[in-house]
Amino acid sequence: MTSVVILGPNLINQSKGAYHVHKTGCRNLGSYYGAEHNADKNNPMDFDSESEVAHFVFADFEDEMSEADMLGDIYFHNCVVFERENGMVHKPAPNIVPEGHVVIPGAGITVPAKKEETMTITFELYNEDMFLSLEIVTSDPENTLAVLESAPNVRNIKLH
Ligand SMILES: [Zn+2]
Repeated sequence: MTSVVILGPNLINQSKGAYHVHKTGCRNLGSYYGAEHNADKNNPMDFDSESEVAHFVFADFEDEMSEADMLGDIYFHNCVVFERENGMVHKPAPNIVPEGHVVIPGAGITVPAKKEETMTITFELYNEDMFLSLEIVTSDPENTLAVLESAPNVRNIKLH
């Protein structure tokens, strides 16, 4: 059993879910102001799993909502760890990370991944008397090539 505080609905910040769940005593509970939150905070409850919390919160909607929908509307802060009867720790289900995105550890935020792939372009800059061999490392080879190709006195452009 893990004692948790369920806050919501009508939270000021609902970007993570209509309901927020914290372990009883979590210091982040201090950031929830207001009388309705006091009522929630003064009413900690024991649960064994995220699933149990979901079915408690959405008890009136069990016919209409799948458990995945229920869980999708509940944010479990990382302070919440449910212990199973056998002593195993039930880790919260990992968030599904969309392709091309990365999770910032600790913050629980998903952001688009930066493309770190770079390519090298070599070319020669010339005039009547001489030429210079130059090299550019770029993460945007298409644009760089377009610029080089439109520039005067540039030849032997090669993408590596
Ligand atoms: Zn917490």
